[in-house]
Amino acid sequence: MRVKILVDNQAKQGFKSEWGFSCLVEAKEKVLFDTGASSAVLSFNAERFGIKPREIDKLVLSHDHWDHNGGLDWALQNSGLKVFVLDSFSNETKERIRGKAELVEVGEEAVEISRGIRSTGKLSNSMDEQSLAVETGKGLLVVTGCSHPGLEKILEKAKRFGKIHAVIGGFHGFEKFDALHGIELIAATHCTEQKQKIKELFPQQFVECAAGVEFDFSSFAGYGEWWLKQFGNDPIWGNPNRVKRNERKTG
Ligand SMILES: [Zn+2]
Ligand SMILES: [Zn+2]
Repeated sequence: MRVKILVDNQAKQGFKSEWGFSCLVEAKEKVLFDTGASSAVLSFNAERFGIKPREIDKLVLSHDHWDHNGGLDWALQNSGLKVFVLDSFSNETKERIRGKAELVEVGEEAVEISRGIRSTGKLSNSMDEQSLAVETGKGLLVVTGCSHPGLEKILEKAKRFGKIHAVIGGFHGFEKFDALHGIELIAATHCTEQKQKIKELFPQQFVECAAGVEFDFSSFAGYGEWWLKQFGNDPIWGNPNRVKRNERKTG
């Protein structure tokens, strides 16, 4: 099971960044989660990964914000696509999809998107949102868009389906840090305000995330090795002091 970060506020060398989020979950099927803010950045980064719209089986939109549905038209080039939105999405967004792909409206109930991949169903707050719970073989990976309903609420709902191994995505407004205890990989990104604090509290679990990063859950061997593989030769990210600083903390 692999996850490729297609759009994020920060990017590895050779990839483009923008305010937004999108990632591709590759299990039995390829499930795109969110589309970033624009087709331009999504298509550029997808191409760098060698991903074509026709390879994607399903698309899940976490919530109806421009920085998550902006690249929708790139994904809709694939007419065989099945798109999962929330029943509370605007008619405008639903109309963009209707006629171009199959539209599925998700309510509060959790639903199976693909084998081993579930939507938590709608969680409400100022903004309705759905997240993914993906089986990794080591526990669940939870993928979030912005976490508007509160990350702790999302994790609580996802726990119904198993132990949480990892979490990737935006942690908007998140401050109940205790909710992260026991999670082995924390990739807080996109709109997370408290990234530095999370990094300090969970130095062994926190991993830096950016467009161009790839997580391979079959071989994840912990922070240090993963970091070097992802960022070792990158002039911006491959700063050995960062690695050293984290190693010292773990010792
Ligand atoms: Zn967002
Ligand atoms: Zn949002």
